Amino acid sequence: MIRTDVLIIGAGLLGCFTARNLTRYDADVIVLEKESDVCWGISKANTGIIYSGYNNKPGSEKQKLCVQANDAFDQLCGELEVPFRRPGSLMVSYGPSGDAVIERKFRDGLNGGVSGLKFLSGKEAAAMEPALAAGITSALYSSGTGTVDPWDLCIAAYENARDNGAHFVFGCRVTEIRRESGGFAVMTETGSYFARAVVNAAGLSSDSVREMTERPLIRLFPSAADYIVLDRTAGDTVRHIILHEGEDGKGLTLVPTVDGNLLIGPTNREAGEAEAGCCDMRTDRAGLEFLKELCKKIVPELDLSQQIRTFGSLRPDPYYVTYEDGRLIRDERSIKDIRIIEENGLFSLIGIKTPGLTFANELGRIVADKAAACAGRTEANPAFDPHRKAIIRARDLSEEDRADLIGRDSAYGEVICSCMDVTRSEIMQAADRGAGNYESVKRRTGAGLGRCQGSRCRRRIMDITAKGE
Ligand SMILES: Cc1cc2nc3c(=O)[nH]c(=O)nc-3n(C[C@H](O)[C@H](O)[C@H](O)COP(=O)(O)OP(=O)(O)OC[C@H]3O[C@@H](n4cnc5c(N)ncnc54)[C@H](O)[C@@H]3O)c2cc1C
Repeated sequence: MIRTDVLIIGAGLLGCFTARNLTRYDADVIVLEKESDVCWGISKANTGIIYSGYNNKPGSEKQKLCVQANDAFDQLCGELEVPFRRPGSLMVSYGPSGDAVIERKFRDGLNGGVSGLKFLSGKEAAAMEPALAAGITSALYSSGTGTVDPWDLCIAAYENARDNGAHFVFGCRVTEIRRESGGFAVMTETGSYFARAVVNAAGLSSDSVREMTERPLIRLFPSAADYIVLDRTAGDTVRHIILHEGEDGKGLTLVPTVDGNLLIGPTNREAGEAEAGCCDMRTDRAGLEFLKELCKKIVPELDLSQQIRTFGSLRPDPYYVTYEDGRLIRDERSIKDIRIIEENGLFSLIGIKTPGLTFANELGRIVADKAAACAGRTEANPAFDPHRKAIIRARDLSEEDRADLIGRDSAYGEVICSCMDVTRSEIMQAADRGAGNYESVKRRTGAGLGRCQGSRCRRRIMDITAKGE
């Protein structure tokens, strides 16, 4: 049995950022992930918005952490060399009920200390976003809202945690947890571990992982989301992140991404039985059609033929549950604020929805502090380095800098993915950092994410990763 101070279950954003923050301490840290790489769960399928905090209830933990995280996001992305944009967001409404929501969010933001908010008339908003349909009645501008690629952020947190000493084990599903004297025995499909403290960051399975040792308290009843991604030719249709507040409560979000694409979504629909039961993230035809219809109304000139892919997601909606006469009864209202469930050395993060991407580092730090204290490892790690070096992306360089780089590394001169302008050097560096298959290379370099979706470069990428040439 392998012994460690803290064992983390799940290598999504929360598991990776908890690991990163635990390596600030002189502690042994192991992360177990059932998939072959990091960022396979909800962390890979979200809207990528770095929220400013106006969306959360004033005074809630969620809002406090979100405001704090938003303020610190430039520094975090500087340390981890993650591309980050702050285009600001515009929440627009087309009628009285949307106007009321916008007024409330404006007040909530001001009361919660969110800076950079402005209440706008419909005319002012229309001037800022000419592509939006006429008839905007009011809008809320937030200059602090930004966007990041969740893969970039999660991979950066993972690499930084690993460089600082955390040990990651992939293809390792936790199947059983037993309390033992001084800690926990954790059984997996490939081996067993003993840990003084366990952090349960298992996303959509965090409720069932907790119930490996504890009585039911909170269960997840996921709802589903659908997204559409448009090619980079459509990326500048809007200048800000657009959040449309529909009169029927159903709205549309448009995100001009860091890579220049336009992300459309998410829907909010009931998850099918298969989706909810197996955490299977898939799209729904009606959901995608619904998004397209909304686009035609709200951004009439948007060219939907620029669609390059779609994806689905699941929201881990948490509810308190109790047993009555042997039957599980679900509380009517879902839990809105965040809660770390602490149970004698087991720390569970259950139902961390939006803005979990925004405050992943802050929440990871809180959990890391608690788990390190529980494991009796509160001494600082003097070698901890918060910085991580990213793979240089040829597509981000000026012609002059690119030529200079090719002079130092000729593999930067060979483009493998022409849609996204990704070179052989970037693919080889991703492989050196542990990307053993096409999917992992794609996430680290962007290769295969363009117009042809990898049909022209997939085989060459697989050859490069297989032969290491
Ligand atoms: C539709 C949607 C949109 C969102 N948009 C935003 C946004 O714009 N901005 C924002 O701030 N937040 C957003 N969020 C929230 C954010 O994406 C989540 O809070 C965050 O990704 C949660 O990460 P996680 O690590 O808890 O979960 P996950 O990423 O799901 O990670 C859990 C990991 O645990 C692993 N695992 C599960 N069971 C086991 C087991 N038994 N053994 C080993 N490993 C296991 C899984 O494979 C997975 O990799 C959004 C969420 C959703 C659903």
